[in-house]
Amino acid sequence: MTTRVSLLDEPDLFEAPRSADDVVEGLARGLDAGRVDTTSPRYFGHFTSAPEDVALRAEAVASAANPQLATRSHAAFAVACEERVVGAIGRRFGLGADVDGIFTSGGAEANAVALQLALARAFPDLAARGLRALPGDPLLYVSDAGHASVTRAARLAGLGEAAVRVVPTDDVHGMKPTALGELLARDRDRGAIPFLVVATFGTTSSGALDPVAELAGLVERHGLWLHVDAAWGGLAAFTPTLRARTLAFARADSITFDPHKTLGVPLGAGMLLTRHPGALGEVYRERAGYMPRDASRDPYARGPTWSRRFAGAPTFAVLATHGMAGIEQATTRQVALGDVLREGLVARGFRIVNDSPLPVACFVDASHADGAKPRRLEAIARQVVVGGAGWLTLVRLSTGARVLRACITNPQTREEHVVGLLDALVAARLEVDAAAREG
Ligand SMILES: *Cc1c(COP(=O)(O)O)cnc(C)c1O
Repeated sequence: MTTRVSLLDEPDLFEAPRSADDVVEGLARGLDAGRVDTTSPRYFGHFTSAPEDVALRAEAVASAANPQLATRSHAAFAVACEERVVGAIGRRFGLGADVDGIFTSGGAEANAVALQLALARAFPDLAARGLRALPGDPLLYVSDAGHASVTRAARLAGLGEAAVRVVPTDDVHGMKPTALGELLARDRDRGAIPFLVVATFGTTSSGALDPVAELAGLVERHGLWLHVDAAWGGLAAFTPTLRARTLAFARADSITFDPHKTLGVPLGAGMLLTRHPGALGEVYRERAGYMPRDASRDPYARGPTWSRRFAGAPTFAVLATHGMAGIEQATTRQVALGDVLREGLVARGFRIVNDSPLPVACFVDASHADGAKPRRLEAIARQVVVGGAGWLTLVRLSTGARVLRACITNPQTREEHVVGLLDALVAARLEVDAAAREG
C-alpha cells in the first residue's frame, strides 16, 4: 500500500481543482493522523465531550438549512429551539422562570459576556460615556485557580489586568470567603468600586469548587454581580448525588456552562445564562437600517455575534433524545468513574492531591522518593500516551506544583478504559524506573 501524501503537501493545493471526494477524504485522513483523538473513550485530557451521533446529525441538518440567527424573523424555529434549551438548563441551575441566555462559542466568550453584563449593571453610563467617565477604579474578583479567560475579558474590556483582584485559594477548597471579604473591605475603603465576583465551580486544573453559597452572601451584602463559571462543573446540576451543591447557583446573576464539555456535543457550544431578562439587551442592543425595528428578542441584539449559525442544534438534539433522565444517568456514570479512578490510583500507590467530587484527579506517585518530581511525572505521562492506553497530561496547580491530571470527560468512557489507564500508569512507572537504572 502506498502512503498517500497529505492534502497539505500537494504542491498545487488551492491552484488546481480536485474532486470533492478527494478533498473530503484528504481532510478526514489528515484529521485522523494530525490530532489528539478527543473522541476516544481513552481521552482523559482537557474537557472535551465526544460528540454523539444525534448531535452530529443535528449539526448537519442545521448547517444544511443554514438558518440565519441574527434575527428571529429569519429563523423563528431555531431561535425558539435555543430558547427552550436555555429554559431547560437555566431551570436546572435554579434560575427560575425569568431565565435568559445565549449560546456562545464556549466558556471563554460566555465569561466575557458576563463581565460586560456586570459592568453595564454597575455603571449605567458606560455605554454612552466610556471608561473615562467611571467615578473610580472598577474591580472584579476571581480566585487564583479561576479561568484565565476572565482576566483576558478584563483586558479586552479596557479595564486592564489591574482591575482583576486575584483571591487566594489553597487549590483544594476553592476561593476563601474570608479572603474575599477582606479584599472587598480594603478596596472599598480606598475608594475603588468592586462590581463583580466570579466564583469558579469546578476549576480547570483540579475541579475545585468555590463555595458559591458563602460567596453569594458576601456578594449580596456588597451589592455586586455574582457570576458562576461552571463551564465544566455545571455537570453537577445534572447529577442527583451532586445537585445539592449547585443550589446556590439560584443566587447567581449569571452562569457559564459549556454543553461542549459535558453533554456529548461538538465544540462550539457554550452558554451564558442570566436571571436578569433585560441584561443582554442593555449591553448588545443596536439599531441598523437593514435590521428589524424592534430587535428586543433578536439574537444579534442580545449577544456579541451578528450573523450566527444554529449553535444550539446539537444540544437541543441531545436533550430531546435522552431527556433529563438520560442526561442524569450519563453524568452520574461519569462522576462514578471519577471515584473508580481515584480509588484505583490510591490502590496503586499514587497520591491524590486535589479534592473534588467531580471526575478529575490530580496526582503524584507516592511509591517513589522522586514521585512528585515533574520530570518523572512527565516521563510517566509520555509513556502512557505513547502506549495508547490513554491521553493525560500534567497541570500546574495554583500552589505552583506540577502534577499528573486525568479527567473523565467523554460520555463513552467506561470502567474498562479507566482500568486500562490505571494499569498503564503502573507499567509506565516501572519502565521509567528501569530506564533510570540503565540511565
Ligand atoms: C474550559 C473552561 C473555560 C473556557 O471555556 P471554553 O469553552 O474553552 O471557551 C472557562 N472556565 C472554566 C472553568 C473552564 O473549565
